[in-house]
Amino acid sequence: MMLLHKCDRCTQEADHHIEKADKKVLHLCWDCYNAYLCERLGLDVAKYAHPKTITVNRQRFKVKMEIYHDGVIYYAYKGKPDALQTISFTAPFEMDGKLAVEELKQRVAKLLIPTTMMEDDFLSPMGVIGVEYDEETYDDLAFVIDGERYDSEEFLDLLLNYRGSNLLYIAEPRLPSLEAQWFGNEEQLLPKTHDDDL
Ligand SMILES: [Zn+2]
Repeated sequence: MMLLHKCDRCTQEADHHIEKADKKVLHLCWDCYNAYLCERLGLDVAKYAHPKTITVNRQRFKVKMEIYHDGVIYYAYKGKPDALQTISFTAPFEMDGKLAVEELKQRVAKLLIPTTMMEDDFLSPMGVIGVEYDEETYDDLAFVIDGERYDSEEFLDLLLNYRGSNLLYIAEPRLPSLEAQWFGNEEQLLPKTHDDDL
């Protein structure tokens, strides 16, 4: 059973647990984690502010943002918690949240809204296949297409139609499970040059 922690900086539940050089663990919620990383990287977190939801072709998607050591990931997502449709856009630090969300909207319109699964188990020529961790399956693996979950066997069945084809792909971060707990240590998190000020 996971021990739940309150965020060290606000009243929310923490889902990021960062071990510092002195072995003390910092417990942070998603937002405070982003703010913490921005502080450490010398960035202004306010620059990456974004709307909580966006509407594209009359469909509503939630938006989350995650600071990464080499950029800012914006996720759009909707649907069932265990089979979320998600897409992301990784923006350089120079780009603000407003512009990044415009890019994200274009990706939603182009890739996420048109269905990936066509009739007769054929895949659209361009689409999104989420690869998920699933501890209920023997290989810890599941696939998410159009908000539905498939196990490896079902997914391989789909690929039978593609014998003789190339599947081109773009790998990008998928929204982490919203219940996931994130563990890491400060050294891995931050580039060496920023390690001096704590
Ligand atoms: Zn917090």
